Amino acid sequence: MRGAVIYGPGDIRVEDREDPTILKPTDAVIRLAATCVCGSDLWPYRGDDEVNGPSPMGHEYVGVVEEVGSDVRNVKPGDFVVGSFFASDNTCEICRSGYQSSCVQREGMGGLGCQAELLRVPLADGTLVATPGMPDADLIPSLLAASDVLGTGWFGAVAAEVGPGKTVAVVGDGAVGLLAVLAAKQLGAERIIAMSRHEPRQKLALEFGATDIVTERGDEGVAKVKELTGGLGAHSVIEAVGTQESMMQAIRSTRPGGHVGYVGVAHGVELPGLELFFSHVHLHGGPAPVRDYLPELIDLIWNRKINPGKVFDLELPLEDAAEGYRAMDERRAIKVLLRP
Ligand SMILES: [Zn+2]
Repeated sequence: MRGAVIYGPGDIRVEDREDPTILKPTDAVIRLAATCVCGSDLWPYRGDDEVNGPSPMGHEYVGVVEEVGSDVRNVKPGDFVVGSFFASDNTCEICRSGYQSSCVQREGMGGLGCQAELLRVPLADGTLVATPGMPDADLIPSLLAASDVLGTGWFGAVAAEVGPGKTVAVVGDGAVGLLAVLAAKQLGAERIIAMSRHEPRQKLALEFGATDIVTERGDEGVAKVKELTGGLGAHSVIEAVGTQESMMQAIRSTRPGGHVGYVGVAHGVELPGLELFFSHVHLHGGPAPVRDYLPELIDLIWNRKINPGKVFDLELPLEDAAEGYRAMDERRAIKVLLRP
């Protein structure tokens, strides 16, 4: 099969990889209908994460089950399935408490390389959720978004305790930030402030339910959010970048007693203890338990209540993955869908 492999910063190649096979009775092998490039794939691409030798890339996937191991009961060959970036048993105590991305048996899907034609999915019964039938082609980008960016934005909103009557601010205008806006809208937020300086992204944020756009960032962005909230700050702030600046922007934009949901993968973030102490802000976040939300998200997509697939503004054949990475790195594209 063909698959994307990173050799070093800026060096993505699509090459022949060995076809995956069933290794454990709990595995499934799926044929990908679509995969994509994640904002977090840019960390190694930009050299911010170390690359140790050629490594397969990609952790977002939807596709059709080809083969299942002898213990798999919940999915069968021919099913169209969505999974998330951590395989999870969905039965352990941590999974049952809604934290499948910290499952005691979790396996990262990134190491298996989802930017490929075929994929082995461990713990298939716990990891994969089948759609009610074969989706129409136009639903596939939205189902793929559910695999990570929608589920991650959703967790950001849940972790920030978004709800009716609340004012929400979203730091970050990548796919996750934009879909956090969508999630906040679905969860009943009264007012949603999207922080973005890029016009096409502002437009999408407004379409997804943002009521206000703030173009300032850092301390000026904080001041603007305070100005829009009677000097108090937002009730709920979603951090979807992962830098020191974005994290502090999120914390300082939150009112005392409010909640920050942080879902940007933290790189070099250090929190000042004394400021945190006096802020009275709740912090919660981490790798999103997307698996917990998949049934609900698939239902919303299947019934065309939401259209998160709109974040994909560039579609390329898998063979052109390198161009997909370049387009996202240069912010020419919000998110790139790859067709195997
Ligand atoms: Zn588990």
